[in-house]
Amino acid sequence: MVEKTLAIIKPDAIKKKLTGKIIQRIEDEGFKISGLKMLHLNKEEAKGFYIIHKDKQFYESLTDFMSSGEIVTMVLEREDAISHWRQVMGATDPALAEPGTLRQMFGSSIERNAAHGSDSPTTAEWEINYFYKKE
Ligand code: UDP
Ligand code: MG
Repeated sequence: MVEKTLAIIKPDAIKKKLTGKIIQRIEDEGFKISGLKMLHLNKEEAKGFYIIHKDKQFYESLTDFMSSGEIVTMVLEREDAISHWRQVMGATDPALAEPGTLRQMFGSSIERNAAHGSDSPTTAEWEINYFYKKE
């Protein structure tokens, strides 16, 4: 089934000039990019996006990081887009991510792990709406 997911290139990867490589990988994996924008979230916007993690010990640091520089948000379309994108990214912790995954290649810590992807159809719809609200 063709589905949509929300992908983000995080500030660490943008600063390392990995934007082009990551977008190339997205296209090579057969995704259609149906939305794309560069944003610099403020702290409140980062907190809103990660509201699901508000009670976690990493919430403050994560939202500082996500509002520390530009990000690129994208809507990706493909067969099984949600699980496929998570496979391409690899495990949350780059140290545990499979060789060849984006987080293994480009991440530097469990926080600064280069990319984001939605984890379920419900989350994908909510996250896409967060950045691409229909007028
Ligand atoms: N994160 C963190 N410390 C942790 C777990 C997660 O800083 O112990 C950050 C990391 O950037 C991760 C994000 O919080 O990508 C969201 O966490 P989640 O568990 O949803 O991981 P993901 O779905 O991104 O793999
Ligand atoms: Mg998650």
